[in-house]
Amino acid sequence: MTKFPIFDGHNDTLLRLHMSDNSPSFFEESSAGHIDLPRAKKGGFGGGFFAVYTPNENYEVEPEDHLTDNGYDVPLPPKISHEQALTFTNGLAATLFKLESEANGQLKIVRTADDLEYCLENDIMAAIFHIEGAEAIDTNFDALHVLYQAGLRSLGIVWSRPNVYGEGVPFRYPSSPDTGDGLSDNGKALVRECNKLGIMIDNTHLNEKGFWDVASLTDVPLVATHSNAHTLSPIARNLTDKQLSAIAESNGLAGINYAVNMLREDGRLGTDISLDEIVRHVAYIAEKFGVEHVALGSDFDGTTVPDSLKDVTGLPQLIERLKAHGFHDDELQKITHGNWLRVLQDTWK
Ligand code: ZN
Repeated sequence: MTKFPIFDGHNDTLLRLHMSDNSPSFFEESSAGHIDLPRAKKGGFGGGFFAVYTPNENYEVEPEDHLTDNGYDVPLPPKISHEQALTFTNGLAATLFKLESEANGQLKIVRTADDLEYCLENDIMAAIFHIEGAEAIDTNFDALHVLYQAGLRSLGIVWSRPNVYGEGVPFRYPSSPDTGDGLSDNGKALVRECNKLGIMIDNTHLNEKGFWDVASLTDVPLVATHSNAHTLSPIARNLTDKQLSAIAESNGLAGINYAVNMLREDGRLGTDISLDEIVRHVAYIAEKFGVEHVALGSDFDGTTVPDSLKDVTGLPQLIERLKAHGFHDDELQKITHGNWLRVLQDTWK
């Protein structure tokens, strides 16, 4: 077993499997997407947040179609309906439950921090049932309670579009994350209900006013599962120093996203970048805000990653680059999984 199992803040593997009718199987090694069980073992990937995300129907937009003088500005996709999201959410959640039942004990949906710790120690892939964008949750929170009982332990209030709870940031470069209104009253009530249940709130994709609303309401550490440092790559999806400072003060963390346009200073989509671009964001947050407040949040199977990483099998090389930068073993332990474990211990209670 690897010394530094990587527990990861975000993947869209369930959506990829669903879109491809589960072919090839998650349990066979293939070159499809970024994660399958055999490749995960090779890469020392100990598990992560498995996102249940409902895409807009027939909505395909690329930054290339929305270029500006110095970047791009992709308009926000329209809202999706609660019914559409709930149906899709059930389908993707079922995909996760089937993975667990077909895994012969090699993948487990974790519901407590003890579960997570056990999986990391015993080389079992740990999966957190996470929903990205709360459209499937009705404003009476009935679905929230049912999904919690089914294993939901993490919720992103928004993806990059509006819903009844708040509004996400557009894919815009360069841009501050302060792009719209904060949480609605429903959104504020959702934060309180998640706190009560012990569901982690993910601030990734949320605009800055929404972020500060969560910060003023929540009683647990602030988390952004897959967002980078805005100072290094000024795209609306990344976190300003002020936000990172609030995250650190709350004893939370940011998971570094491997999306090339969120790593690169120029916000471009070119994939010919070195793993040191990921190290640059990790080191910035570690050195300025504390190594306890940075982790990894790949966005595997949901984004375009550097060619130098390729897929989950590239992770050992990333750890080598982090070592070469000067991170010691105790720091690598925190970055790769220790910080996530601490935050979830504090959040799930
Ligand atoms: Zn995302």
